[in-house]
Amino acid sequence: MYRGILIFLLITNLFSYEITNGKTFFLELNKDSHIFKDNKELPRLKNPSKEDGYFVLIPVEYKTKKNIINLLHVEGNKKTNIALHVEQGNYKKETLKVNSKKVNPPKSEQNRIWKEYLESKKIYATFTKKRYWSKPFLLPLNSKITSVYGNARVYNGSLKGFHSGTDFRAPTGTKLKTVNDGVVVVASRRYYSGNAVIIDHGEGIYSSYSHMSKIAVKVGQKVKRGEVLGLSGATGRVTGPHLHFSIIIDSKKIDPLDFIQKINSLFD
Ligand SMILES: [Zn+2]
Repeated sequence: MYRGILIFLLITNLFSYEITNGKTFFLELNKDSHIFKDNKELPRLKNPSKEDGYFVLIPVEYKTKKNIINLLHVEGNKKTNIALHVEQGNYKKETLKVNSKKVNPPKSEQNRIWKEYLESKKIYATFTKKRYWSKPFLLPLNSKITSVYGNARVYNGSLKGFHSGTDFRAPTGTKLKTVNDGVVVVASRRYYSGNAVIIDHGEGIYSSYSHMSKIAVKVGQKVKRGEVLGLSGATGRVTGPHLHFSIIIDSKKIDPLDFIQKINSLFD
């Protein structure tokens, strides 16, 4: 009899949510609740508009297949299981024609590409405890979106992964703004990204801006929400001038517009 009741309690003690690959799951918490994944507590971030309120971010990598992410919600002695069901997003295929050197880079450039990859990897894995921002996130410019996040990308006929950011129409020379306060961690010319700027917003959140014609900031510089980082251009692997904008959380390149919409809803 006792055992029967216990099983019943365990069964009802399960919450279930759905999320699409490439998107970020937000879970609001009160001051005594904590979330664990694989026996490790996830960073608890302060809710910007609720006293004693917190939230956790669970960015779901694009490559994640249909799957269940198991989480444990702990509040005092009370433990609740959370099943996060990962569903596949309805992402399209996109064909692009670019300079062939940017699809199959020459041997002489492999070293540089590898170094740039390792540099970004190290930066994105760095969790800065301080939060630099306090207001809602902006868009880097107001313009038409020319390519959405998540499209499978075929360059000059061969599949080269997925589109890891959002592209905005931006004729060369358009001012590009930082989406929120932060610190410049990259401001250099890169093989694929061209002239690129990466901003650390704190707590594992980064934003990146690629293909610029001109960079107007330096590494280590503190920037304020809306401050100009540089001018748009057509440097790196491009079909023409535009801004490739991405958001990285916990080393995962997730849908930036989905993230901005969700994080800004904390201010409603
Ligand atoms: Zn892009």
